[in-house]
Amino acid sequence: MPTKEQIEQIIKELQRILRIQDWDINFKYVTEAEARDIYGEDCSGGNLRKRHSEESYIIINQDNDKVKNMPNYWYHTLVHELYHIVTDSFIYVVDDSRQFIPDEKARKEWKETTNVKYEELVNKLAKGFVNAYPISNFDHILNHAAALELQMAGMTGTTSIMKGE
Ligand SMILES: [Zn+2]
Repeated sequence: MPTKEQIEQIIKELQRILRIQDWDINFKYVTEAEARDIYGEDCSGGNLRKRHSEESYIIINQDNDKVKNMPNYWYHTLVHELYHIVTDSFIYVVDDSRQFIPDEKARKEWKETTNVKYEELVNKLAKGFVNAYPISNFDHILNHAAALELQMAGMTGTTSIMKGE
């Protein structure tokens, strides 16, 4: 898995592509226990959003089976969480419209159904994006040799990058 710093760099690039640059996005790897603490269930990732101040707190559960065992699942998870930001105003309207349902049971059902459908939508968007824009687009961040080559190519007279190699 990439480092926290690499993920932060990737988020910056994805923000530009997804046109969500105004959001202040924070990222953290968490353990299984921490993920459960925050979301009350097993999950590969999560995104707590403060939509009025456009702040987002994205986590990836580093102990999650899929994240641990499926190569690049972290990328799908990250893109999924970013699509929650892209679609945030849409789900805001959906959530807000619940108040117009007078019956409590119907309101609860509406909430459950829209939640499931919303997750499906975000997942489809994320899958499509990951196919169209695969992880190889981030070789300059993830692949140390490629990153070094790029930096060397643009470098004039400093070798500080070689320190500690
Ligand atoms: Zn989701």
